[in-house]
Amino acid sequence: MAPVALASSPITPTVDFDRDGVQHGFLRLPYSRDDSAWGSVMIPLTVVRNGSGPTALLTGANHGDEYEGAVALFDLAQTLTADRVAGRVIIVPAMNYPAFQAGTRTSPIDKGNLNRSFPGRPDGTVTQKIADYFTRELLPLADLVMDIHSGGRTLDFVPFAAAHILPDKDQEARCFAAVAAFAAPYSMRMLEIDAVGMYDTTAEELGKTFVTTELGGGGTGRAETIAIAKRGVRNVLRHAGILTDGQAVDGRAADGRAEASRWLDMPSGDCFRFAEDSGLIEACVDLGQPVRAGDLLARIHPIGRTGLAPAEYRAALDGILAARHFPGLVKAGDCIAVVGTVES
Ligand SMILES: [Zn+2]
Repeated sequence: MAPVALASSPITPTVDFDRDGVQHGFLRLPYSRDDSAWGSVMIPLTVVRNGSGPTALLTGANHGDEYEGAVALFDLAQTLTADRVAGRVIIVPAMNYPAFQAGTRTSPIDKGNLNRSFPGRPDGTVTQKIADYFTRELLPLADLVMDIHSGGRTLDFVPFAAAHILPDKDQEARCFAAVAAFAAPYSMRMLEIDAVGMYDTTAEELGKTFVTTELGGGGTGRAETIAIAKRGVRNVLRHAGILTDGQAVDGRAADGRAEASRWLDMPSGDCFRFAEDSGLIEACVDLGQPVRAGDLLARIHPIGRTGLAPAEYRAALDGILAARHFPGLVKAGDCIAVVGTVES
């Protein structure tokens, strides 16, 4: 039997993606509920177009508690003018808007984790409908896709831009060239724990040049990491020839020092350390510090009573501490540390 054709998306854009100039509007997603019978979720977006040319699709707050992307993209949307663009820039600063409004990773409406909801469904939950609209309407418009993540409330990262190892080596080279152009303090060959349902995977399977980031975390944005995001977004747009403001790709650190990005790799699942105990975490290494295989990364102290020895968690390989659990209390199963290997 032939597969049944998917229904069209219930989302209506209030902008015309083919019109030149700057348009600020919304993706309007019908959401009938107690306090608004014929109500909608209104996801803000900006389209800046100037003639024909490549299209960049820029997103933040795919997870609602990650702020560097949202700040950088609300700022870009407010300041970018069409005369500095060749082609088109589509900016969605807060992709999972209900989660962003709630300050939570997942949506308060349906508990949907947008980055595990792809390719989505037009007749599914609110989160699945957002994913479906990106899969079938926005991604096909794009040549370059940049999705800006941070650690959210439960992780903190050294600031890096990243791409994945891909079967299509030409596409992989395009992705890593864009990562290099982002010019974050670190650049990562990223391994995913669970790639099924990710926006990344969907964009990559459509052949797009895809860049993601992890730029800090802890449920807030810092001046340093926000500056990295603002600079990185513009750098990648210049690299793609879409931003034509006459400036070169900018490799300065937030404090103005010339800076070369350090390349990191995640060669295997040994990079990750997951808690097998619950309790109070004692960090033994800070982000960015070098570690050797066997070094103590963290201890977890039982908190039910005194007099018990803490559990020890050690690095499985040489590298730097690239990510850590953020809150002071951990549960069994939490990712407590990620070691990235340093490429020479
Ligand atoms: Zn995220």
